[in-house]
Amino acid sequence: VYTGGTIGMTEDLSTGALVPFSFDHLMKNVPKIGRLGFNLDHVEMDPPIDSSNMNPACWARIARVIADRYEDFDGFVVLHGTDTMAYTASALSFMLHNLRKPVIITGSQLPIGEVRTDGEENLITALQVAAEKDRSGQQMVQEVAILFENSLLRGNRSTKHSADNFDAFQSDNYPELARIGLGITYNRDALARHEGDDTSLHVDYDVDSNIVVIDLFPGLREDTFRHLLDCPGIRGVVLKTYGAGNGPTAEWFLRSLKEAVDRGVVVVNVTQCGNGCVIPYRYETGRRLHNVGVVSGHDLTTEAAITKLMYLLGQKSDPVEIGELMETSICGELS
Ligand code: ASP
Repeated sequence: VYTGGTIGMTEDLSTGALVPFSFDHLMKNVPKIGRLGFNLDHVEMDPPIDSSNMNPACWARIARVIADRYEDFDGFVVLHGTDTMAYTASALSFMLHNLRKPVIITGSQLPIGEVRTDGEENLITALQVAAEKDRSGQQMVQEVAILFENSLLRGNRSTKHSADNFDAFQSDNYPELARIGLGITYNRDALARHEGDDTSLHVDYDVDSNIVVIDLFPGLREDTFRHLLDCPGIRGVVLKTYGAGNGPTAEWFLRSLKEAVDRGVVVVNVTQCGNGCVIPYRYETGRRLHNVGVVSGHDLTTEAAITKLMYLLGQKSDPVEIGELMETSICGELS
């Protein structure tokens, strides 16, 4: 499923900037794919996009492509720009239920037509991972994952941490699903598995993006904070707090949050730190937040918190139930 991104880009000669190009161009640059001997088909998003333009409607289109062909293929590879790859991986992990097949998302830092490209290796390895079976004949990977450079990572645990390095993604709070070196070494204990005999895929397409993300910083003003919380139609807030989930104890700050919670807005606390988690009662500054009804995002990445909140708001209406589900793992997104 080719959505665009650097992997398929070429230079626009009039501006010198990279712009998305066709799937045929991409495939012409990787003739080796034929040597894998796989039965491949492809779907190209029309038009392919820079992933900065990604949105929930595109997530639904990707999910539909997978759902429509689910029974016909062993696995799926999504080619995607790196900038919002972790958001798409997280969103798809919530939208695609009971996934028993791999959905491997990859892309590259350099376009596939460039001599030093990382795209060729990422694409070929992603296809190999998508085709891999275990000894019992089951798909080795049965979840949404990001394949980049040397790692296969759980999609909803990943973040883009480098705008420069080929090794661009990190999963700070969950182990790698596989290490890519001379061979592909799977970490079987970390791979998701489903119970039960129902092997059919269930897809929830509706998400509600009526949310705001508020990143705390020393000096945040009351009027700015209130303005964000009072945005018309807002149903959810991802509050990015300090350290183990701490925020100011100023009266105006806590009162504004309480008023939002009382209006039915779901406020989720995630840490600004890449590694570690929210510990609600460790400090007074965290305890007060939770006393006004802010729910703990524990060790969710920001990308997973945003997409999970959008997903739950699209499926449910009761803020208390949504808050409880935010604190519960749905598909391995929190520890
Ligand atoms: N701007 C590009 C995109 O996200 C960056 C990349 O693919 O690496 O589509």
